[in-house]
Amino acid sequence: MAHRTVITSTNFLDTETLERKVNQTIVIEGTSISWVGPHSEYSQNEGDTIIDGTGKFVIPGLFDLHVHLNYRFTDFQNMGDLFTRRKESYADLIAVKHAQSYLTKGVTTVRGVGGRKSLASLRQLIDEGLYIGPRLRLALNTIAQPGNQEYFGPEALIHDRKNNEPVSGVDGILHAVRQRKADGANHIKTMTTGGVLHGKTSDVNLSLWNDEELRAMVVEAERLGMYVCAHAHNNNGIKAAVKAGVRSIEHSTMLDEDTIDLMVQMGTYITPTLSAGTFIKFATDEQRAKLPPEVINKWNHVSQEMARSHALAFKKGVPLTLGTDAPVAKDHCHTDFEMQLMVDELGLTPYEVIQAGTLISARCMRLDNELGSIKAGNLADLIVLAKDPETDITIFQEDANLEMVFKEGSVVSRSGKLET
Ligand SMILES: [Zn+2]
Repeated sequence: MAHRTVITSTNFLDTETLERKVNQTIVIEGTSISWVGPHSEYSQNEGDTIIDGTGKFVIPGLFDLHVHLNYRFTDFQNMGDLFTRRKESYADLIAVKHAQSYLTKGVTTVRGVGGRKSLASLRQLIDEGLYIGPRLRLALNTIAQPGNQEYFGPEALIHDRKNNEPVSGVDGILHAVRQRKADGANHIKTMTTGGVLHGKTSDVNLSLWNDEELRAMVVEAERLGMYVCAHAHNNNGIKAAVKAGVRSIEHSTMLDEDTIDLMVQMGTYITPTLSAGTFIKFATDEQRAKLPPEVINKWNHVSQEMARSHALAFKKGVPLTLGTDAPVAKDHCHTDFEMQLMVDELGLTPYEVIQAGTLISARCMRLDNELGSIKAGNLADLIVLAKDPETDITIFQEDANLEMVFKEGSVVSRSGKLET
């Protein structure tokens, strides 16, 4: 029998019902949860490692569904630095550090939505147990249409832009989806509108792809066991993505009621990325001074629309996941700040935010058969919190409150420090 670690007499969040379960014991055996129930019904085996959970609060490991592991926050503050002072391989290697940092905040699953091909090998190293890091699920390079990025600037920037291999037409798309699959992608990332940081002529109100192209992308991705997530800001670009069967809309900034109704009908998820969307509200004068004026204009527009759209969508039943768009607005691993914004800007309760960051995110990624809730048979990804976050989501911002983080039954971090 595998070794058992037991968290006794604790309270935990049932992420299906949002009920607090009290005086419960959780038995971890190998990589999984083998038993959960009232402490009075637990029978201790000789050799069980006991963790006294009295007064603690346990939740499933968190997800961050929108991460770019190859970049640093400072890159977005100074694009020139990024493309003139570093080799391309720097971007491959920095991802190793970024990925690991997520564990200190209890994020045991990270979804990459635009990054380099080498991330597939980082995922393999982690899966093989050769490196400690979160579970990675990756899109690798975004599939982009020509015209959303400028091809000027330092040579390295042009090359980086072209790494996304812009494509056109159904044949181009089919090839790109198959190529991502061959490179090791778990899902496909695309953009159905322009973006804030995508260049001077990239307009957040411009819809990209035609319906036939988008539908071909979704059908081919699904046929190959993947799904599509789409960056989208304006209502038309979002609607086109939802109609085509895209699984999650990233940012999802400007929504009208018709599109929200369609999302409910199609079961589409929203990844809010509020920390990126609202960055301009919190930016310092120095940070603003480094941004081109057209980027500031786009960002102001996005930050005004985003919270209104998401709050309405949530009220009407669109499932929200948890995703930061790190490191656009802050350095990696600020999932705790994003959680606070979901309370402050959208009006969710702390338990609803935790549900978004666990069960709903797991469903979006089709991992809910083994992650996102605390029940027998699931993988033992757990956070032991020093206190119940029911009335205060900011407890995640204090390292001391994240007493233990388990990934697949092993402790990977204690009080904000990696377990080595
Ligand atoms: Zn992004």
